[in-house]
Amino acid sequence: MYRLTSEQDVRAAQVRQLPALETLITDRHSILGLIGNTPLLRIRGDETHDVQSHVYAKAEWFNPGGSVKDRAALSMIRHALRTSLLTPGKALIDATSGNTGIAYAMIGSALGYRVVLALPGNATGERKQILRAFGAELLFTDPLTGTDGAQLHVKDLVAAHPDAYYYPDQYNNPENWKAHYETTALEIWQQTKGRVTHFVAGLGTTGTFVGTSRRLKELNPAITCIAVQPDSPLHGLEGLKHLATAIVPGIYDPGLADEQLTVSTEESYAEVRRLAREEGLFVGVSSGAASAASRMVGARERTAVVVTIFPDGGARYGSEHFWNQQEEV
Ligand code: PMP
Repeated sequence: MYRLTSEQDVRAAQVRQLPALETLITDRHSILGLIGNTPLLRIRGDETHDVQSHVYAKAEWFNPGGSVKDRAALSMIRHALRTSLLTPGKALIDATSGNTGIAYAMIGSALGYRVVLALPGNATGERKQILRAFGAELLFTDPLTGTDGAQLHVKDLVAAHPDAYYYPDQYNNPENWKAHYETTALEIWQQTKGRVTHFVAGLGTTGTFVGTSRRLKELNPAITCIAVQPDSPLHGLEGLKHLATAIVPGIYDPGLADEQLTVSTEESYAEVRRLAREEGLFVGVSSGAASAASRMVGARERTAVVVTIFPDGGARYGSEHFWNQQEEV
């Protein structure tokens, strides 16, 4: 029988396992092989005779975990496996109830790694159910301390048991933006045959905006990159940050943003209703913000090719009341 005797042997066994993991990640018959290469959809919006701009959106809910965060989570986990930050016996730990948590849970399940997520006790039922379905272990923290409390709890656990956990820290992990530098930007370039003139994306961890903008500007420095944020600190744009009042992610590079636009929660709600009712697109609230900002840019520029990101689908927001609101006429 083969027995591991020392740390070196454990390392050696880990290295021997890596090609199998790489195969799983790139295999077309593996769920992980389906991450990325999302469709580019045309948004019709307000096309008129005097506006000849085209607005397109990457349909990121086509990723197997249902959101853009599959790309970043896969990139961080793959790097952690290659560099032995994540080894058999360690669990991936983070504080997120959002799309990143779902992406970790799905990828952890496919690769056979435990995923532990700390969430405020009042996180929504739909998200908790998805995380549980993928077998993630959930630690509930005091709702009064919000997501900051969950983050602190994770940091304390990692400090106390450094050998038990791998903590990706998506706000400061370059693999987050590199996922978009290596995939999202190249897909946009190929899907528009290099005709993209404007790139518009919301800021959360900022990985999507930073990685995609950085690569697009290398491919064509004339491309204008526009960052979208909520218009106030208290907002309903799940996944997006109001940077003036938030902790600015370490990976953010403000120099990449040629322009900053703000969108209100109400405008975003109205736009997701419009996309669902007029264009057959059932998308999440941050997609509404991205769409509203992109259509504004398209109308202003008149002959632009605007590309944006629709981070997730509408089903994750199914129980929210804004779907039932009527537009004022
Ligand atoms: N929209 C949604 C719904 C998200 O979950 C996220 C990720 N936080 C974003 C937008 C922003 O993406 P990023 O973290 O890459 O800035």
